[in-house]
Parts: sequence; structure tokens; C-alpha cells
Amino acid sequence: MYLYKSHRPTWAEVDMDAMRKNILAIKRECAEDVQIMGVVKADAYGHGAAVVSQELLKLGVEYLAVSNIDEAMELRTSGISSPILLLGPVESSEFGKLIEFNIYATVISADYARELSEAYRYRGVYPKVHIEIDAGMGRLGIPLENALLEVEQIARMEGIIIDGVYAHFPSADADKEFSEFQIKELIKLSQELKKLEIKVRYFHMANSAAIFHLPSSLKSPFNMVRPGLGIYGYAQAALSPSLTLKTKVLAINRMKKGQTVSYLRSYTILRDVEHIAVLPIGYADGIPTLYSNKGRVFIKDAYYPVVGRVCMDYMMVSLGENSRGVQIGDEVIILGGQKITMEEFGKVCKKIPYEITCDISKRVPRIYLRKEDKR
Ligand SMILES: *Cc1c(COP(=O)(O)O)cnc(C)c1O
Repeated sequence: MYLYKSHRPTWAEVDMDAMRKNILAIKRECAEDVQIMGVVKADAYGHGAAVVSQELLKLGVEYLAVSNIDEAMELRTSGISSPILLLGPVESSEFGKLIEFNIYATVISADYARELSEAYRYRGVYPKVHIEIDAGMGRLGIPLENALLEVEQIARMEGIIIDGVYAHFPSADADKEFSEFQIKELIKLSQELKKLEIKVRYFHMANSAAIFHLPSSLKSPFNMVRPGLGIYGYAQAALSPSLTLKTKVLAINRMKKGQTVSYLRSYTILRDVEHIAVLPIGYADGIPTLYSNKGRVFIKDAYYPVVGRVCMDYMMVSLGENSRGVQIGDEVIILGGQKITMEEFGKVCKKIPYEITCDISKRVPRIYLRKEDKR
């Protein structure tokens, strides 16, 4: 959960119309019967999980996925009743929470499934699980070579309901050959399970990159996709970026030749006079210090360079010799929209889009925009 309101003029706008367009774009790629599991882990990649999830459910997304129990509990507490899958195992001491909050577990081995089924039996309910297969991600799941054996064992366990079997791509778009190998292995597994009459409701692999690059992961036996980044608009050029980070000019300093700006005095005024604007946003808001003397911001109709070191709560930009009509209180685009793309920001501070939006800190309020709100 993010600050809902703040008295500081620094905020992130989240464009719900953009998100709607992205969901439609994702749906267009998939076969009719393919379900979307909206990945809203890490507070919907920094966009705010509760609000984003409500919106996704309105748009016909039926499943949600998060990475831990706290995230799942937050969704339940905010009134969300859709199926929620945890994309990873939890400690056995937390099994009770899975039951209490009706959360689907990820099972990563037959042993784990056995432990889980014991805990559920004790409470008199049936666990609904998705079994993760490690088909080359090298992280979690049943290794491919044991997959058939262990899935079969799990299927024979009392009470366990296998709602899904899934695997994850380590390099969906960058290494197509390996991805196609993974897909073939999962298809083989699905056929073998079918022969054994083991029922699995959902077979899924595709993350956002796969949705736009690996069509064979979007059709039978696959009937679910797990987009995250694409929902927010960054996985593919044609999608609509949904987040814009903004602030307002806090002060304008008229500085003279020889004076320096910010910590470590890394920027020196070389001209007789230079106007420096102070912005109330810094590394505690998610602007890396790598942005110092390298990034740029957009004010009104022009770009201005970041000068001096980014501080915890402030950063400075140069307006040039005169202040070019920029005034205290003017709105500043730090990141987002078409003005300063995630790509540009990421290149300067050596981050991937996932990190950039996740790193916008909790003290930056998220403001949700819908068409009717736009002026
Ligand atoms: C995060 C995650 C996704 C979503 O990936 P994107 O690249 O954001 O679409 C899907 N599946 C698993 C297992 C994940 O951890």
C-alpha cells in the first residue's frame, strides 16, 4: 500500500485507461479460451496492487498472482475474492494462512505437496495447488526429469486438487530456441498426464515477453498466461506506459560563477549566472544517485539536465542562464509517458523497467487516472 495522500508535491500518476488498453492487447494475442492471470506481485510492480487488481477483475481477468502471503492477504483484506496464486512456496508454519485466506499454493515437489495436504486434512479442507516445473529457469520447481513421476504422486495424494501446472521462461524473447525447447517439454508432460487421466485445469508458461514472442505458448495445451510487465505497459513497444512520476519546482536559485551544487560539489557554475531549480524528489523516492549529472527532466515544453548529486529528498536541474519562464510550482515530469521513457531512464541509471517502477518508494502517493478524471 502506498501513501494515499501527501502534502509534498511529488506523486506518481497511474493511467488506468492505458492499463485497459494493455489488457486488450494481451487478449488479442491469445486464443479465446486462454485465461489471464494478472501478476500483481510487489504491489503491482509499484503501481498499487489493490487498485490495479480491482481494475483487472473488472476487465475480465479472473486470476491474480502475487509472490508472498502478505501480498495475498492485502488483496483479500481489500475485498478481492478472485482466485489468487502464490508464485512460490511458503514455510509450513504459514500453511494455516493459505487456508484462512483461501490462497492457491505453488507446490515445488511431491514432499512439499505431502506436507501441505497433511496440514489441510487436519483442517478439513482440500488444497488447490499449482505445481511448478523447473523447465530451465533454474530457480524453483520440480526438475523436468522428475516431473511426470512427482506430478503423478501428487495427483494420487488424498484431497489435493491440481488447479494448474506451470513453468517459467528465463529468456522468453531473447532465447527463442531454448524457450521452444521448454514449450515442447511442457507439451510432452501434458500429453503424458492426459494418458494417465490426471486432470489439470490450467497449463501455463507465458509471461509478458512470451505473449508477444512465443505464440506456441498461447494455445493448447496452454490455456492461461501470466503477464505482469505488459499490463503496466512496458514489455513491448506497442503497449501504453501507465505510470508517470511527477513533482513541482520547489525553489529557483540564481547562482554565480564558481559556486557549486549539492553534495561532493560535482557541478560547478561556469557561466556568470545560472538558474538552478530545486525539485522535491530524491533517492528516497526512487531516483538513483546514478542520475546525478546524467538524467534530464521535462518542464512545460523543454528538457532540463539534472545537475549535481541527487540527494535523499531533492535533486537539482539547470534552467540555464535565465530561468526560461520556469516558475516555482511548475509541474515537472521526472519519468514516464512519452517524454521520458522507462527505456531512457533505465539506460542512464542501469536499471530494467521492473526495477524502476518497483523502486518508486512507498512515500510517493499513487494517483489513479481514468478518462473521466482527465482535464
Ligand atoms: C513475475 C512473474 C511473471 C510475470 O512476468 P512478466 O515478465 O512481468 O510478465 C510470470 N510468472 C512468474 C513465475 C513470475 O515470477
